[in-house]
Formats: sequence, C-alpha cells, structure tokens
Amino acid sequence: MFIFKRVAHLQDWIQKKKADGRKVGFVPTMGALHYGHLSLVEKSRAESDVTIVSIFVNPKQFNDPADLVKYPKPIEKDLELLYTSGVEAVFLPEVEDIYPSHHSTAIHFDPGPAASTMEGEFRPGHFSGMAEVVYRLLDITKPDNLFMGQKDFQQLSIIRKLIEDFKLPVNLIMCPTVREANGLAMSSRNVRLSPEARDKAGIIHNSLVEAKAAFKTGASVEEIRRNVFEVFKMENFRPEYLEVVDGFTLAKVQSYNDANQIVVCCAVYVEDVRLIDNLIWKQNVLN
Ligand code: AMP
Repeated sequence: MFIFKRVAHLQDWIQKKKADGRKVGFVPTMGALHYGHLSLVEKSRAESDVTIVSIFVNPKQFNDPADLVKYPKPIEKDLELLYTSGVEAVFLPEVEDIYPSHHSTAIHFDPGPAASTMEGEFRPGHFSGMAEVVYRLLDITKPDNLFMGQKDFQQLSIIRKLIEDFKLPVNLIMCPTVREANGLAMSSRNVRLSPEARDKAGIIHNSLVEAKAAFKTGASVEEIRRNVFEVFKMENFRPEYLEVVDGFTLAKVQSYNDANQIVVCCAVYVEDVRLIDNLIWKQNVLN
C-alpha cells in the first residue's frame, strides 16, 4: 500500500495507473475509520481496479471549532485497517496541500435550497466547506468512481449536484449505511459516547423504522416528529431536527404520495455527541 503525502506524487502514480487502463475508485474520509468506511472500500474494490482512500480532517467543514479539536485521529490504526482491506493508495495531505496559500481553491458553486435545510441550517458553512474539499480532492485524484455513504444523505445529494453543475466525469456511487448491532449508524463520533449512551442510541434508528408505517398510513410530519421526539425524551438526549424530504431535491414533503423517493433525516445530541441518521422510506425507481 502506498502512502502519499504530496499531491504531485499521488498524481504521478494515478496517471501511471490510468495509462495502464486501470479504473480508479476514490473514497474520501476524515479518518477514525470503522466498518462503515470499509464498506465503501469494499465496494470500490469490487467496482474499480485500484482504490485510493484519502484521510483529511477538513477544517473548513467544522462550524464548531471544539468539534474539530475533539475529532479522533487514530492514524496508525486507520492505516492498518486500510492495509488489511487491500487499498492500493492512501492520500494523507496536510492542510497546506489541500488549501495552498499561494492559490485559491474556492469554487463558485451554488448548492441551492438543498443546502439550507437540516445540516445546512444547524451547521452554517458546513456544506460550502465540504463541497470545496470534495471538489479539490476530485480535481487531484480524477477518479472514475466516487464512493460515498448514505449515512450522510444530504452531503451526497449536494455532491451529486456539484458533479452535475461542474460536469465532472465521475460516477457517484451511494453505499448503504452500516450499523452497529443495536441499529445505531456507525460513526467516528460513536467512540465518544459512554457505553450506556451508545447502547441507548440504537433507539434513533429504531424510531425511524417504526415511524414509517404511520407516515405511510397518513400521519402528518408534525405528528411523526412529535411522537419520535417523545421517544427521545431520555436523559442525555436532545433532538435537533427531524425532516421528511424528497430524496432528489431534499424539499420537505408532507405525505407519502408527494415524491418518488422519500427520506427521513434527523440529528440528535446524545450526551455531547451530535449524531445524524436517515432512512429511505420510499424508493420508486422510474425508468
Ligand atoms: P467521514 O469520515 O465521516 O467524512 O465519512 C467518509 C465517508 O464514509 C462518507 O461518504 C460517509 O457517508 C461514509 N460513512 C460514514 N459512516 C458510514 C456508515 N455507517 N455507513 C456507510 N457509510 C458511512
């Protein structure tokens, strides 16, 4: 496994692979890897000839500086996991490699209304920082396939728009959310939960599963939110939002017939850890 720290070295290596006709898969991460990330690697290895994983904790997407400081960085363990997963190359840039002081990496991208609700509303600046780093990483790696998790559904929707708007020649592949045994979506932040809270946090996913039937049979989003938040009235739980949205536009929907793909998304603080999750409630593929 190659570990690249410099952009030019990574690009030389990628160019050689591409010249040999190899299809490149790319998995961007912020490290503190768990099986959710490794499922993206697995998918990339199945769909591509070589897989590159980047580990970069992007300061521009943290609206809360304390969250950035607390973000876990177990780099040795991460490299070991990637090595055993059969990754060909890891990109470990410094902030200066991604945002060089001698030229601007800012992009003129309007993520549209999809960026102003949910995560966009509660984490101002998060999506512009995220879009900028993903654009920069795609510009460096120029992959054939980009693998992202459904876990961050809104992020993925915004990257889909970024790819469309800039006509980037990359195939975006969404990978399903990997969960712990109790249903809690795997996240790098879960290690900050006490064992009791981690156990209880399985209720987030289970509540979204249970609420689906009510929505399908006519319950309003208001009622669903009230009922789910009632369940979250537990010690150390503090729900932030619950929205039911069109999976393509992220516009809020009111009833089951409003869209072909319907996704419920929520954010909840458990102890001082902010957890997000979502579930696809309706998936009608139109072809
Ligand atoms: P992060 O390191 O949190 O920026 O995540 C890097 C990528 O891994 C993103 O595309 C995430 O959506 C994806 N990811 C994170 N957690 C999971 C999970 N539990 N299941 C599937 N994908 C995930």
